[in-house]
Amino acid sequence: MYGRLIYVYGAMGSAKTAELLIEMYQHEHENQKVCLIKPLRDDRNVEVTSRAGNLSRPADYIIAPTDNIFDMIDESVDSLFVDEVQFFSPEQIDQLRRLTIEKGMNVLTYGLRADFSTKAFPGSIRLFEIADELREKYYRCSCGGKKTYNARFKDGVIETEGEQVAIEGKGNYTYKSLCPECYYRLVNEKLEKQSGPIRIRKKDYQ
Ligand SMILES: [Zn+2]
Repeated sequence: MYGRLIYVYGAMGSAKTAELLIEMYQHEHENQKVCLIKPLRDDRNVEVTSRAGNLSRPADYIIAPTDNIFDMIDESVDSLFVDEVQFFSPEQIDQLRRLTIEKGMNVLTYGLRADFSTKAFPGSIRLFEIADELREKYYRCSCGGKKTYNARFKDGVIETEGEQVAIEGKGNYTYKSLCPECYYRLVNEKLEKQSGPIRIRKKDYQ
Protein backbone atom coordinates (compact mmCIF):
# COMPACT_ATOMS: atom_id res chain seq x y z
CA MET A 1 0.00 0.00 0.00
CA TYR A 2 1.20 3.49 -0.82
CA GLY A 3 2.08 5.86 1.97
CA ARG A 4 1.14 9.51 2.12
CA LEU A 5 3.30 12.59 1.64
CA ILE A 6 2.22 15.35 4.02
CA TYR A 7 3.53 18.92 4.16
CA VAL A 8 2.92 20.97 7.30
CA TYR A 9 4.05 24.52 6.55
CA GLY A 10 4.08 27.84 8.34
CA ALA A 11 6.17 30.85 9.28
CA MET A 12 8.94 30.65 11.88
CA GLY A 13 7.66 30.26 15.41
CA SER A 14 4.41 28.51 14.40
CA ALA A 15 5.26 25.45 16.53
CA LYS A 16 5.83 23.15 13.53
CA THR A 17 8.69 21.26 15.18
CA ALA A 18 6.69 20.85 18.41
CA GLU A 19 3.92 19.24 16.37
CA LEU A 20 6.46 17.00 14.60
CA LEU A 21 7.93 15.74 17.88
CA ILE A 22 4.53 15.13 19.47
CA GLU A 23 3.20 13.36 16.35
CA MET A 24 6.32 11.20 16.27
CA TYR A 25 5.80 10.20 19.89
CA GLN A 26 2.21 9.20 19.08
CA HIS A 27 3.31 7.05 16.13
CA GLU A 28 5.86 5.28 18.35
CA HIS A 29 3.17 4.75 20.95
CA GLU A 30 1.23 2.82 18.28
CA ASN A 31 4.31 0.60 17.80
CA GLN A 32 5.24 2.11 14.46
CA LYS A 33 8.87 2.25 13.40
CA VAL A 34 9.75 5.92 13.03
CA CYS A 35 12.77 7.73 11.62
CA LEU A 36 13.72 11.42 11.90
CA ILE A 37 15.84 13.30 9.37
CA LYS A 38 16.92 16.90 8.87
CA PRO A 39 19.10 18.76 6.37
CA LEU A 40 22.74 19.50 7.03
CA ARG A 41 23.18 23.11 8.15
CA ASP A 42 26.11 25.23 9.27
CA ASP A 43 25.56 24.44 12.93
CA ARG A 44 25.90 20.63 12.42
CA ASN A 45 23.60 20.11 15.39
CA VAL A 46 21.98 16.64 15.36
CA GLU A 47 19.19 17.63 17.75
CA VAL A 48 15.76 18.55 16.43
CA THR A 49 14.59 21.12 18.97
CA SER A 50 11.35 23.01 19.42
CA ARG A 51 11.49 26.31 21.25
CA ALA A 52 7.74 25.96 21.82
CA GLY A 53 7.37 23.34 24.51
CA ASN A 54 11.09 22.75 25.10
CA LEU A 55 11.06 19.43 23.22
CA SER A 56 14.12 17.84 21.67
CA ARG A 57 15.22 14.61 20.00
CA PRO A 58 18.33 13.65 17.98
CA ALA A 59 17.88 13.14 14.23
CA ASP A 60 18.63 9.63 12.93
CA TYR A 61 20.23 11.05 9.77
CA ILE A 62 21.57 14.45 8.78
CA ILE A 63 21.04 14.79 5.02
CA ALA A 64 23.66 16.53 2.83
CA PRO A 65 22.56 18.27 -0.41
CA THR A 66 24.03 15.44 -2.53
CA ASP A 67 22.56 12.56 -0.48
CA ASN A 68 19.92 10.29 -2.01
CA ILE A 69 17.27 10.03 0.72
CA PHE A 70 15.47 7.17 -1.05
CA ASP A 71 18.58 4.95 -0.82
CA MET A 72 19.32 5.93 2.82
CA ILE A 73 15.99 5.05 4.45
CA ASP A 74 15.30 1.39 5.19
CA GLU A 75 11.96 0.03 3.99
CA SER A 76 11.17 -1.27 7.51
CA VAL A 77 10.40 2.34 8.52
CA ASP A 78 6.64 3.01 8.82
CA SER A 79 6.74 6.79 9.21
CA LEU A 80 9.52 9.13 8.18
CA PHE A 81 9.56 12.57 9.84
CA VAL A 82 11.37 15.46 8.16
CA ASP A 83 12.29 18.71 9.93
CA GLU A 84 13.24 21.92 8.05
CA VAL A 85 12.19 20.31 4.78
CA GLN A 86 12.44 23.63 2.88
CA PHE A 87 16.21 23.13 2.68
CA PHE A 88 15.93 19.94 0.63
CA SER A 89 16.30 20.18 -3.16
CA PRO A 90 13.33 19.46 -5.47
CA GLU A 91 15.13 16.21 -6.43
CA GLN A 92 15.24 15.18 -2.76
CA ILE A 93 11.50 15.94 -2.43
CA ASP A 94 10.92 13.54 -5.34
CA GLN A 95 12.98 10.95 -3.42
CA LEU A 96 10.54 11.38 -0.49
CA ARG A 97 7.67 10.78 -2.95
CA ARG A 98 9.35 7.55 -4.12
CA LEU A 99 9.60 6.39 -0.47
CA THR A 100 5.80 6.61 -0.16
CA ILE A 101 5.22 4.66 -3.39
CA GLU A 102 8.04 2.12 -3.55
CA LYS A 103 8.67 1.52 0.17
CA GLY A 104 5.09 2.25 1.31
CA MET A 105 5.99 4.57 4.21
CA ASN A 106 4.21 7.72 5.32
CA VAL A 107 6.40 10.82 5.00
CA LEU A 108 5.51 13.75 7.25
CA THR A 109 7.41 16.92 6.37
CA TYR A 110 7.54 20.21 8.29
CA GLY A 111 8.96 23.48 7.06
CA LEU A 112 8.68 27.05 5.86
CA ARG A 113 6.71 28.21 2.85
CA ALA A 114 8.77 31.29 1.98
CA ASP A 115 12.00 33.04 2.92
CA PHE A 116 12.55 36.52 4.44
CA SER A 117 11.96 38.22 1.08
CA THR A 118 8.60 36.41 0.60
CA LYS A 119 10.04 34.03 -2.06
CA ALA A 120 9.29 30.31 -1.76
CA PHE A 121 12.08 27.79 -1.20
CA PRO A 122 12.59 25.39 -4.18
CA GLY A 123 11.91 22.35 -1.96
CA SER A 124 8.69 23.93 -0.65
CA ILE A 125 7.47 24.64 -4.20
CA ARG A 126 7.98 20.97 -5.09
CA LEU A 127 5.97 19.91 -2.02
CA PHE A 128 3.10 22.25 -2.94
CA GLU A 129 3.10 20.55 -6.33
CA ILE A 130 3.09 16.91 -5.23
CA ALA A 131 2.11 16.47 -1.54
CA ASP A 132 -1.06 14.47 -0.82
CA GLU A 133 -1.97 16.77 2.04
CA LEU A 134 -1.06 20.39 2.84
CA ARG A 135 -1.60 21.70 6.34
CA GLU A 136 -0.96 25.30 7.36
CA LYS A 137 0.11 26.29 10.87
CA TYR A 138 0.03 29.88 11.99
CA TYR A 139 -0.36 32.20 14.92
CA ARG A 140 -1.91 35.63 15.15
CA CYS A 141 0.28 38.73 14.94
CA SER A 142 0.07 41.27 17.80
CA CYS A 143 -2.18 43.36 15.50
CA GLY A 144 -4.55 40.42 15.00
CA GLY A 145 -3.40 39.55 11.44
CA LYS A 146 -2.19 36.13 10.33
CA LYS A 147 1.56 35.68 10.75
CA THR A 148 2.64 34.31 7.38
CA TYR A 149 5.80 36.36 6.69
CA ASN A 150 9.32 35.70 8.03
CA ALA A 151 11.00 39.05 8.53
CA ARG A 152 14.80 39.04 8.73
CA PHE A 153 16.70 41.77 10.51
CA LYS A 154 20.39 42.63 10.30
CA ASP A 155 21.54 44.77 13.23
CA GLY A 156 17.86 45.41 13.94
CA VAL A 157 17.01 46.68 10.42
CA ILE A 158 14.61 44.68 8.22
CA GLU A 159 16.17 43.08 5.12
CA THR A 160 14.44 42.60 1.78
CA GLU A 161 17.36 41.31 -0.28
CA GLY A 162 20.44 39.14 0.20
CA GLU A 163 21.26 35.43 0.51
CA GLN A 164 18.21 33.18 0.88
CA VAL A 165 19.74 31.40 3.88
CA ALA A 166 21.34 33.23 6.82
CA ILE A 167 21.58 31.49 10.17
CA GLU A 168 20.00 33.27 13.13
CA GLY A 169 22.55 34.62 15.58
CA LYS A 170 25.40 34.62 13.00
CA GLY A 171 26.33 38.00 11.49
CA ASN A 172 23.76 39.73 13.73
CA TYR A 173 20.79 38.20 11.92
CA THR A 174 17.51 37.79 13.77
CA TYR A 175 14.10 36.65 12.54
CA LYS A 176 10.54 37.47 13.48
CA SER A 177 7.31 36.24 11.94
CA LEU A 178 4.79 38.97 11.12
CA CYS A 179 1.51 39.49 9.28
CA PRO A 180 1.83 41.08 5.79
CA GLU A 181 0.62 44.49 7.06
CA CYS A 182 3.26 44.73 9.81
CA TYR A 183 5.93 43.36 7.45
CA TYR A 184 5.33 45.98 4.75
CA ARG A 185 5.04 48.78 7.31
CA LEU A 186 8.61 48.02 8.45
CA VAL A 187 9.81 47.73 4.82
CA ASN A 188 8.25 51.10 3.94
CA GLU A 189 9.72 52.76 7.04
CA LYS A 190 13.15 51.53 5.97
CA LEU A 191 12.68 52.81 2.40
CA GLU A 192 11.60 56.24 3.70
CA LYS A 193 14.72 56.48 5.87
CA GLN A 194 16.95 55.45 2.95
CA SER A 195 15.56 58.13 0.64
CA GLY A 196 16.01 60.74 3.38
CA PRO A 197 13.81 63.75 4.21
CA ILE A 198 11.83 65.24 1.34
CA ARG A 199 13.64 68.32 0.07
CA ILE A 200 11.77 71.27 -1.36
CA ARG A 201 13.49 72.66 -4.43
CA LYS A 202 14.04 76.41 -4.54
CA LYS A 203 12.02 76.92 -7.73
CA ASP A 204 8.98 75.34 -6.03
CA TYR A 205 8.54 78.27 -3.64
CA GLN A 206 10.23 81.16 -5.42
ZN1 LIG B 1 0.56 42.42 12.29
